[in-house]
Amino acid sequence: MEASMKALVFKGPRDMQYMEVPTPEPGPGEVRIHPKAVSICGSDTSGYKGGNKMRTPGLIMGHEFSGVIEKLGPNVTGVTVGQRVAVHHNIFCEKCRDCKEGRDNVCVNRAIIGTTMPVYGPYNGAMADYVIAPAKKIIPLPDHVSFNAAAMGEPLSIALRATEHVKILKDQIVLVYGAGPIGLLNMQCISARGAASIIAVDVADSRLDFAKKCGASRVINSKNEDVQKIVAELTDGGVDVIFDCVGIKETVNTGIKLVRCGGTVVWVGLSEASFEFDYKDAVCKEISFISAYMYTDELEKGLDLIAEGKLDVENIITGVYPMSEGAKHFELIAHGKSKDIKIILTND
Ligand SMILES: [Zn+2]
Ligand SMILES: [Zn+2]
Repeated sequence: MEASMKALVFKGPRDMQYMEVPTPEPGPGEVRIHPKAVSICGSDTSGYKGGNKMRTPGLIMGHEFSGVIEKLGPNVTGVTVGQRVAVHHNIFCEKCRDCKEGRDNVCVNRAIIGTTMPVYGPYNGAMADYVIAPAKKIIPLPDHVSFNAAAMGEPLSIALRATEHVKILKDQIVLVYGAGPIGLLNMQCISARGAASIIAVDVADSRLDFAKKCGASRVINSKNEDVQKIVAELTDGGVDVIFDCVGIKETVNTGIKLVRCGGTVVWVGLSEASFEFDYKDAVCKEISFISAYMYTDELEKGLDLIAEGKLDVENIITGVYPMSEGAKHFELIAHGKSKDIKIILTND
């Protein structure tokens, strides 16, 4: 009889089921991992709602995770059963021009653990008793790094890449749109780089409270406060740098108004695919626009920062729940009823 395991299976929009599925076997060069901590990503919840082509029915999600190696496939060396690990979840082709030039984060041929990619197709993720990963993608964890902290390595890598795209942050006035996990981790990275001040903008006071813990010196609730007026009072002609961790028409176009002439805007958030853009204002202010997507070597760098105690990524984890309750939490988030900032699902 085929061995089976429990997994959270995405059956279709707003339909997630914790059910028995066949246990995957590690092939040559692969290992089987028992996930201990799996974080729910905003991209997972948008996929759950049906708004994301990278999550197709039948997929097991989960790309922000850590765990223990449980079985080695044939021809695996350099890692051991029982080892505590994180995983570089972007399995790029290593052959295309982007890969060869160091942009493996945008490789068109890549597989991503826990997602469905256009060329490769679905690759099951860690919201299950077991997940398969190539042995060469394994990142060993020091004993003192918790599984929960390690699961935050992937969202941290997104923030690290975005902030490293800006050469000078020291002594700069920086505004961050969005105080969700990515915005909050951006604030931690910006704070560590010595920014003069961080202004956090969101529509939820509960999130803005976390922004203060992550380095924001001023928080603005754009629902009931006038962001442009406050920024005009706080600065001499606008902020130096904006990180847009939301990515909707309103934040992108207001960002153009809030940044100083010659300032920098970094686009990180991906909430809307297309919208009207205030092009003339952007050109006439000589704004530099930078976009940041996924990570290349920032996951390893981020896990090092966590291990060195330089960032406290666990302070944004607000809920730790058993994997068996995962479907309930996806539904709460989809309904806007979840109070959590960052949720970790755990296996025993
Ligand atoms: Zn993610
Ligand atoms: Zn490639």
